[in-house]
Amino acid sequence: MNEPIASEVLSTLEHEAFVAIDTSEAGIAAASRDFGGLCKGIARGSIRPTSVEQIQRIVRFANDRSIHLTVRGQGMSQSGQSIPRDGFSLDVTGLAEIGKPDMTRMSVTTGPGATWRGLLERLLPAGLIPSVVPLCLDLSVGGTLSAGGFGSTSHRLGPAVSHVLSAEVVTGEGTRRICGPDRERETFDAVLGGLGHYGVITSVELGLRRVPPRVRTHYLVYDDMKTMLEDQLVLSSVEGAAHLEGFCASTVLGMRKNASGRRQPLVKWSFGLHVSEELEQASEPSGASVLSGLRHAARVHVEEDTSLEFASRYDARFAAMRLTGAWNLPHPWLECILSLPDTIGIVPEVLEMLPAFLGDGHRLTLLADTARPTSLAFPSRGPYVSFAILPMGIPEPLLRPALEALRAVHARLVAVGGKRYLSGWLFEPDDNDWRHHHNAAHVGLRAAKVGFDPRGVFESLLTSP
Ligand SMILES: Cc1cc2nc3c(=O)[nH]c(=O)nc-3n(C[C@H](O)[C@H](O)[C@H](O)COP(=O)(O)OP(=O)(O)OC[C@H]3O[C@@H](n4cnc5c(N)ncnc54)[C@H](O)[C@@H]3O)c2cc1C
Repeated sequence: MNEPIASEVLSTLEHEAFVAIDTSEAGIAAASRDFGGLCKGIARGSIRPTSVEQIQRIVRFANDRSIHLTVRGQGMSQSGQSIPRDGFSLDVTGLAEIGKPDMTRMSVTTGPGATWRGLLERLLPAGLIPSVVPLCLDLSVGGTLSAGGFGSTSHRLGPAVSHVLSAEVVTGEGTRRICGPDRERETFDAVLGGLGHYGVITSVELGLRRVPPRVRTHYLVYDDMKTMLEDQLVLSSVEGAAHLEGFCASTVLGMRKNASGRRQPLVKWSFGLHVSEELEQASEPSGASVLSGLRHAARVHVEEDTSLEFASRYDARFAAMRLTGAWNLPHPWLECILSLPDTIGIVPEVLEMLPAFLGDGHRLTLLADTARPTSLAFPSRGPYVSFAILPMGIPEPLLRPALEALRAVHARLVAVGGKRYLSGWLFEPDDNDWRHHHNAAHVGLRAAKVGFDPRGVFESLLTSP
């Protein structure tokens, strides 16, 4: 759709799909940007269906009229994945119904627009939780599964998409399909982790686990990264280590000259590791055995939470970002999955490449090797580590140097076979970049795009593989 949208088209769509289209200035502005704040598209309006039938009608209409649709959850991605290049935003947050847990299958079925917070409010009182929960609870389930979904249980359970038992999707021709790891595998492989390029997830059945009511977290400090990562490897087979999160922490020790003679902060890196156990009751006898054999320099803190307090522990950080205005600044986030040997080999060098104004707290956490859909690319060998640089927000005058440094980091990481997590700032990947990203799976994913979305209805500012 490259012509201006005639009001006749809008009213026909509203009439045929029984949906209202938001073409207000505010609605269009919201649909034209994302959390990344680095690119801006052209949203002609925002369509907010509330049923799968409406989605089918909208997609069929888009086929007939050559209109592009961009699937959108909460718009928290950062490289235009949820922004129309020139078309309509298909806001699926209206499909947010959460079913009753199925205790036989240990699963819950939910609409893609439900948030993780909504799921936890429903499930935690029954002592249940999705196997993998992201750190931000306000992401939509569909948006998270379209990227992959990592959380603090991923060192044992892998990404959230590994716990999708089945999914209902609407493909680019408006066809409704049920897929899963053992059913319509081609659809599952493309759509889960597929950034809305192949179809819309309209409902998903997620695996659950039982969760005790309390969590105790040990805060450990390491002088070197290799020891911290090796300890994570040990902990990944320790039953009691339910949650793991590793960090890089910087101490600025004054200014020094860099290779080109310019002064820059002299930074010493140390490494933090949070190890959390789940407990049946408060102050259960010490979990010291969880830590036995570890080689941390110090344990600096121990804390107990209810399981809800623990799951929402990042709320305070996000509230602070809103309070300081950082939330509205650009976020060129860079996440990458690396092999453990490459992490040890390359991350110290990468930390030196980062301007100090990008802050610290860069994440380094082990990821389990679980069965995954093809769209979610992993390096060719494990063990796997997720490395993430997530600045609070970059003020305009620092954006250029930030992007230059991050582009150099991106090149360094992908050169050793690292796979970018497709939520962050991905630049503008061209065909070669996608080919390199998906390796042998690229041909199949290209064929899936043609097969599931022959008229290219689903389009965003981010190119498709
Ligand atoms: C503050 C913050 C914290 C985060 N924490 C984590 C974390 O702990 N773990 C983690 O893994 N990620 C995390 N992320 C990244 C996040 O998971 C991804 O950016 C995710 O895609 C955002 O979900 P969303 O609902 O905002 O999706 P959107 O940004 O709206 O969409 C993302 C992509 O998914 C597609 N999409 C959305 N819904 C559907 C659907 N129903 N069917 C098909 N395609 C769809 C869109 O087209 C787009 O390509 C975080 C992001 C932020 C901003």
